[in-house]
Amino acid sequence: MSSQKKLNGTVIVTYRCNARCTMCSRYKAPSRPEEEISLETIRKLPPMYFTNITGGEPFIREDLEEIVAELKKKSDRIVISTNGFFTDRILKLTEKFPDIGIRISIEGSEKNNNAIRGLDDGYRRGYETLKKLRERGMKDVGFGMTVQDCNAPDLVPLYKLSDEMCMEFATASLHNSFYFVENKNVIHDRPMVAKNFEDLVNELLNSKSPKKWFRAYFNHGLINYIYGQKRLLPCDMAFDTFFIDPYGDVMPCNGTKDKKVMGNLNTQSWDELWNSEQADRVRDFVRHCDRNCWMIGSVSPAMQKYIFKPAFWVARHKLKFWTKKKYSMYELKCCRDYRDGKLTKEMCDKCSTCDMTSVAKDGRDGHNSGE
Ligand code: SF4
Ligand code: SF4
Repeated sequence: MSSQKKLNGTVIVTYRCNARCTMCSRYKAPSRPEEEISLETIRKLPPMYFTNITGGEPFIREDLEEIVAELKKKSDRIVISTNGFFTDRILKLTEKFPDIGIRISIEGSEKNNNAIRGLDDGYRRGYETLKKLRERGMKDVGFGMTVQDCNAPDLVPLYKLSDEMCMEFATASLHNSFYFVENKNVIHDRPMVAKNFEDLVNELLNSKSPKKWFRAYFNHGLINYIYGQKRLLPCDMAFDTFFIDPYGDVMPCNGTKDKKVMGNLNTQSWDELWNSEQADRVRDFVRHCDRNCWMIGSVSPAMQKYIFKPAFWVARHKLKFWTKKKYSMYELKCCRDYRDGKLTKEMCDKCSTCDMTSVAKDGRDGHNSGE
């Protein structure tokens, strides 16, 4: 496999976090500053067509400016995911690098956001940061929302707010993995949450933006995911996509129960690591992975690679719109079966990655887990 082909990379610069989210315990298992990925290791990364910088909370790192400067030398596009709390740091960085993207997590209404994030002032700070970035003329700015039972009714109102502000709107739902140090996340009232996604899909399909039509497909896939069904598209993580954690471990994704390690970039070169037997074993794992997660990091490359399927879905639904027929979640067999009593809550729970019996891993002890 050539290492010269541009890849899609996610760089987890720290596991430290100032938030206390209900669906993520990463803040309980932070990395230590002295062990976090260094500039020297970052310089070894391959050329990328897209890089997501994430955490923890990436703006906790005091050398984030140097990290972005290094990554800009090897990546066509950089987007930083943040909870938006450190307004001054975000403004300072984007002044220096106005062409990067910023995604700020806002979990719905002020009350819901602050309760979910465990940050008393979180909504106001995040929203102010977004507004200031927009006022300064930054183009690639947007909201990110993790939809769960308590904030699902805020989904469409938040989308409308993002639309008024001419901003991107990224969605996710609950996942379990070593990355979130969680294994007890699960949607309880699936039809209610799905209905809110259905409304969002119709808003997106009704827009004039082709990008939003494809977002509609992604949200259609989220409905399928919360019912615990097989992914709508294959997962090709670790083939032309990678994650690297604060310890220098290169992984296929952030969705596995235990950390899967292809190699360590602190001690190996990129070519050695990427072409190793251990990396191939992880690729083999990915081929057989049954976690069926549906997060933008793994779905976006799949949507580009298997463009025919989402494009056909979009074309079919735009045609429907012209005949005034809307998208319905009951296009999915799982939603019909649930409505008709053929699929129960218990069956969906079983298909999910929620596991109330085991202790969640944090990826610190899994450095050699290449199997
Ligand atoms: S979801 Fe993000 S902001 Fe919340 S605790 Fe986890 S790492 Fe921190
Ligand atoms: S389905 Fe893909 S992204 Fe999800 S855990 Fe498996 S390999 Fe990772």
